[in-house]
Amino acid sequence: MKGVVLKGPRSVELVDLEEPELRDGSVIVEIDACGIGGTDLESFVTGHVPAPAWFGHEWSGRVVDVGGIGDRPEIRDRFVGERVVGSAPPACGQCRTCRAGFADQCSVVIETIVGADPLADRVGGFSERIRVDARRIARVPEGIDQLDAALAEPASVAAHAVARSNVGLGDLVVVIGAGTIGLLVCELARLAGATRIVAIDPEPTRQELACDLGSDAAFSTSLTDGPEATQAAVDWLARTGHGLGADVVFDCVGTGHSMKTGVELVRRGGTVVAVGVTPDERHEATGDGITPAMLINRQITLKASQGYLVNDVRRVLGLMAEDRLRVAPIYDPEPFPLAAVGDLLEELVVSPVGRLKPLIQPRPLGTTSPTRQHRSS
Ligand SMILES: [Zn+2]
Repeated sequence: MKGVVLKGPRSVELVDLEEPELRDGSVIVEIDACGIGGTDLESFVTGHVPAPAWFGHEWSGRVVDVGGIGDRPEIRDRFVGERVVGSAPPACGQCRTCRAGFADQCSVVIETIVGADPLADRVGGFSERIRVDARRIARVPEGIDQLDAALAEPASVAAHAVARSNVGLGDLVVVIGAGTIGLLVCELARLAGATRIVAIDPEPTRQELACDLGSDAAFSTSLTDGPEATQAAVDWLARTGHGLGADVVFDCVGTGHSMKTGVELVRRGGTVVAVGVTPDERHEATGDGITPAMLINRQITLKASQGYLVNDVRRVLGLMAEDRLRVAPIYDPEPFPLAAVGDLLEELVVSPVGRLKPLIQPRPLGTTSPTRQHRSS
């Protein structure tokens, strides 16, 4: 089968790979679509994939084989053909964190979310098939398009952040950074009860997209300039609702500057949620992060949100199935073949703005490669 592997900084190759070998506790998933996300871009730039199968983790696919079922073929019959997406496993119940009673912070779940899956192969979703731990797949409900389903992973990240924020009825929300996660946070914050939502992003096309997806306003800031760049947002917030600033700010960029902007835009007693991460070397030069006094003087709560839990995936898929969470406007409706991964990544590095999220489709939807059809299992 074909798959894209990372060879080094800004170097990928489409290669022939061994078929993933079925193991107990694993399933083989045939990939239908896989989004290119920020983490993939980061791996491409550095030449380093944090964990096996992490290069291409925003995938949707179909189960083609189930391991460890012994003489119970009815289990295979039940699961083969199911449409699935990558999810988080349930809390393990065994790790120190679980045993101490903090199952919502299970170390195994966190490790899986950042790419560790002992049953995964060395390739991710930029390949025809992958092997994954059977505990970390989620069934895609009827009514969700298989391309849309590839957005379930970033949507789960956004859902986790919204759940962590405790955003509620009538809240005024600011979302800094209107990339995929930011746009999904805008939508989900609305579903959680926020009445006014403002997106902040330097890119006009993303501002437009944020408004199309239900934000009330969108403002530009370079996210590296001084506070004057956010003045339009400050003015808007002063005229809106209680006029005290945002109840909740989501920082979906993750630099010292974006976090500081969040603290400036939130009202006294409000909450800033760190969602996005930009690697240190990209923003260290700004040197203008927040200070303890800035938090204390206005009694601001800082929260962090990492990855997602299995219930976030369930929520997102439910909302997508009911057409309440719209993901189609976020991605390019024309999927690309595996051979395009390198060029797309290079294009995203050189000019990262102004294009929709690209989806990779290893084969036309609904077809199974000959290799797989002839495999006896
Ligand atoms: Zn655990």
